[in-house]
Amino acid sequence: MMVTPKVRGFICTTAHPAGCRENVKEQIEYVKRQPKADGPKKVLVIGASTGYGLSSRIALAFSSGAATLGVLFEKPAAGSRTATAGWYNTAAFEEFAQKDGLYAKSVNGDAFSKEVKDQVIGLIKQDLGQVDMVVYSLAAPRRTDANGKVWSSVLKTTGASYTNKTIDLKTRAVSDVTIEPATEEEITATVKVMGGEDWKDWISALKAADVLAPNVVTVAYSYIGPALTHPMYLDGSIGMAKRHLAKTAKEITQEFPGVTGYISVNKALVTQSSAAIPIVPLYISLLYKVMKEKGLHEGCIEQMTRLFGEKLCNGSPQVDGEGMLRLDDWEMRDDVQREVSRLWETVATENVEQLADIDGYWEDFYRMFGFHLPGVDYDADVAVDVSIPSLA
Ligand code: NAD
Repeated sequence: MMVTPKVRGFICTTAHPAGCRENVKEQIEYVKRQPKADGPKKVLVIGASTGYGLSSRIALAFSSGAATLGVLFEKPAAGSRTATAGWYNTAAFEEFAQKDGLYAKSVNGDAFSKEVKDQVIGLIKQDLGQVDMVVYSLAAPRRTDANGKVWSSVLKTTGASYTNKTIDLKTRAVSDVTIEPATEEEITATVKVMGGEDWKDWISALKAADVLAPNVVTVAYSYIGPALTHPMYLDGSIGMAKRHLAKTAKEITQEFPGVTGYISVNKALVTQSSAAIPIVPLYISLLYKVMKEKGLHEGCIEQMTRLFGEKLCNGSPQVDGEGMLRLDDWEMRDDVQREVSRLWETVATENVEQLADIDGYWEDFYRMFGFHLPGVDYDADVAVDVSIPSLA
């Protein structure tokens, strides 16, 4: 069938199999053009199918030759419904990895569950023995805990309500939006979903099963951003979860001998998760404009190549005073932030096309679902029922 994008709010409900494959291929080709990294050789990536997790898996496999086991929560095609982008990405990743003689297997299921943890431990024991790196890159809207209770995360501010500019990406209108503060219950729930509890549960389960190599490193991803995003992000409900994640990194290092936990603070980028945060997409489209003009723009794959190639696996890890790896170093440069703040003050519906990179935002958005990739024939019929080799 012919697959076209169907955009609903923050997501696209269709994904193009050939486009997603091309997207993965482009990322692999980028990595292969960079110097090889002397990184880990056996890696577990939790949240491996899209965004930062997918790019982590690609960078580690094709730069340091790592065997990768990926955990994802994606849907296969059903009838005329396409699979999710992360499903097609994973199918393509495994195909390319196998071509290069790299071990790649995937587990599709709820990473928060004990069943998936047990399945992963079984696979590591059977195929890899132990892993020397665990990447935790989950971005989930909800979590069902061990008692069956469902926690839902919210994207709200905390304390008092907060008003600032936002953009309706569809109409390209800039307007004020007021974000209500999260309740205590909502903050607790957001921390349960996006904080470090499940990361620590993973490390605890892996350690108890003796599938962590000596001196294993584990890394989870966070965001800090400039003051103008703080009420929505750092000081918002998601920020409370990220603070918990940072605390967890320290706890993991202290409580599990031989395991070192890191937080990598990444750049703000268009992913399926960030598109849903109010205010942030306008900031991202101004940031893209400024960073592209300065020749500093990076996507997920450039960020993850730099993380493993320069910051984490190249000698001793380059951390800041808080022990964090800073991949947001270019985003947070004074000249970049001064320019973004200046644009933020003046941006309005009338000038948003000139000041912000809305087209760049949309390009990244469509690409996430396999659309708008050069070299893909979107008028051709494609088979949507693609299988992930290791799950077939
Ligand atoms: P994403 O939505 O692209 O990826 C999320 C991944 O998690 C996918 O592989 C998905 O399949 C998987 N997943 C979700 N729920 C799952 C579940 N229950 N079980 C198993 N897998 C599940 O998101 P992303 O933007 O790449 O985010 C990854 C991490 O990076 C998050 O911690 C996020 O906060 C952080 N981060 C994102 C940005 C940004 O701008 N996008 C910036 C800095 C840090």
